Amino acid sequence: MASGRARANHAAPFGEHDALRDPLEILREVFGLSAFRGQQEAVVRHVVAGGDAVVLLPTGAGKSLCYQVPALCRPGVAIIVSPLIALMRDQVEALRQQGVEAAALNSALTPDEQREVRDKLHAGELKLLYVAPERLMTAGFQQMLRETEISLFAIDEAHCVSQWGHDFRPEYRALSAIAENFPGVPRIALTATADPQTRADIIERLQLKEGQVFAASFDRPNISYSIVQRDNGKEQLRDFLSRHEGRSGIVYCLSRKKVEETAEWLNGRGIRALAYHAGMDARIRSRNQDAFLTEDNLALVATVAFGMGIDKPDVRYVAHLDMPGSVEAYYQETGRAGRDGELSEAWMAYGLGDVAQRNRMIGQGDAPEEVKRIERSKLNALLSICETTACRRQSILAHFGEAHPGNCGNCDNCRAPADTWDATEAAKMALSAIYRTGQTFGAGHVIDVLRGKTTDKVISFGHGNLGVFEVGKDIDQKTWQSVFRQLTGMGLIRVDSEFGALKLTEAARPILRGEQPVLLRREAPRKQTKKDARREQAAAMGDAAHAVFDDLRAERARLAKAQGVPPYVVFHDTTLRAMAEARPATLEEMAGLPGIGKAKLERYGDSFLAVLRTAG
Ligand code: ADP
Ligand code: ZN
Repeated sequence: MASGRARANHAAPFGEHDALRDPLEILREVFGLSAFRGQQEAVVRHVVAGGDAVVLLPTGAGKSLCYQVPALCRPGVAIIVSPLIALMRDQVEALRQQGVEAAALNSALTPDEQREVRDKLHAGELKLLYVAPERLMTAGFQQMLRETEISLFAIDEAHCVSQWGHDFRPEYRALSAIAENFPGVPRIALTATADPQTRADIIERLQLKEGQVFAASFDRPNISYSIVQRDNGKEQLRDFLSRHEGRSGIVYCLSRKKVEETAEWLNGRGIRALAYHAGMDARIRSRNQDAFLTEDNLALVATVAFGMGIDKPDVRYVAHLDMPGSVEAYYQETGRAGRDGELSEAWMAYGLGDVAQRNRMIGQGDAPEEVKRIERSKLNALLSICETTACRRQSILAHFGEAHPGNCGNCDNCRAPADTWDATEAAKMALSAIYRTGQTFGAGHVIDVLRGKTTDKVISFGHGNLGVFEVGKDIDQKTWQSVFRQLTGMGLIRVDSEFGALKLTEAARPILRGEQPVLLRREAPRKQTKKDARREQAAAMGDAAHAVFDDLRAERARLAKAQGVPPYVVFHDTTLRAMAEARPATLEEMAGLPGIGKAKLERYGDSFLAVLRTAG
């Protein structure tokens, strides 16, 4: 491993030793952290010793350290493959602030800047180099790497190699060649993608069969989950956002049009919101993304085009105004909240119309029938989670094959258990009305028939003469909608892809025959107590500490702005919270807090001490 090559011995702050450095020492000195978390240490030691690794850990588990620490322990430069320029930029900036020689090589640099990075690489001055996959595989770059001592290859967002995931990037496929071109250099692939097919694909495609797999529970205990029926979506969203004043988060909508409308609507009501979707002018889009990264108190309203590679650790909420297409997508999108481990909320408002619309989108796509079938079943799996009265966390994890005992205490169903009612008769009526009307209508018309409304459609199809006409008039419209949704979620009704027509499934039979009772959730609107998340946090921290915390945040914002970097690059919320609680009076005391390594202590210690002296 030691390099025998003659190389200018420039004074890089770390590395440049022939012996391997101790991971714990690096963790403490450079990153200011006292201990590894979960699987980190095992991964780090394995890679430092030269082993290949596949790291499957949920967002926020601390995957970056799994390659950053080995990169500083081993001689040479670590090559980090990363799909997004924005992500590289932030990681490099954060590392530099910690006193680490890191750089990125990508198309956003000027030719001069690129040359500078290449010179540094040549001179052995870099410890980490971030590159895009397409650049890594060019002949020129490969040649350059052959002349350089490489400590390891890290392949971040490794699920991009798989066609099963929704972030497939063909360039990732070529990465399999690294194993052949650089035998003996450890490779580490990392992802937060939970589904088994994608995982298998990563191992296969990146030739990591010999690598050790490190995996952990995919639970995100600091994220609270709530799913509500959409009634007046925007107002519900406003209610939800009122709990997050002064904090930033993401609001997902299905269409570009809705993104723009929603952002405008929120701004009109005094809630700062910016839009983001693929159809926008690229400059405005990237400006909005930057604003989201650097500002607090901003709702970024976006389509799913936004999010991959967004590393912002303090996203306090993710709201969905429309239902995503699968549990995988839902979990990935909500997973962008709370990377820093602090309390965060995932909230969704949905309606049966979403299911019909999604089904239509699937139907109109040009994927083969087999793929469409998979997509529909994925959609139904998410609907079941929306409709469940059980613990959401348990249901979500079960979908990924992970057992959870339930009663998490941190989802809407656990906090306020749902009321249920005996809906055996109502279910029978609903199912037979679908059947009698020929399984060719959407929920709206079938409910009209049940409630005995003589609409034009009812008249023209002669549905007023059916036995089911008017049998359900004692049940109100909303309750009927809820019945149809829940029966769909239970898999008794299937929403046809073309016109949103409802069809019965095999599972509906025993219910139609009255052989099986049906318990449904009562939709008594669970009054979301307007608990202000900030107040919750203040309570957890103590009022005095919370006031100091706010002062520290202001100082952080000032320092970040002066350097044009996101606030979390200066310090994470976790660090500020520890500071507010411990109130260190000297640099020595401050050095003991999480997230304050040598370089940051020198750089920021005095400014924050000054704030602490006058605060509170
Ligand atoms: P991931 O890439 O897995 O989503 P990150 O690498 O972004 O996670 O880390 C998530 C957060 O956890 C960061 O704020 C990071 O500083 C913090 N973190 C990681 N490892 C540790 C540790 N051992 N002790 C304390 N905080 C940690
Ligand atoms: Zn729960």
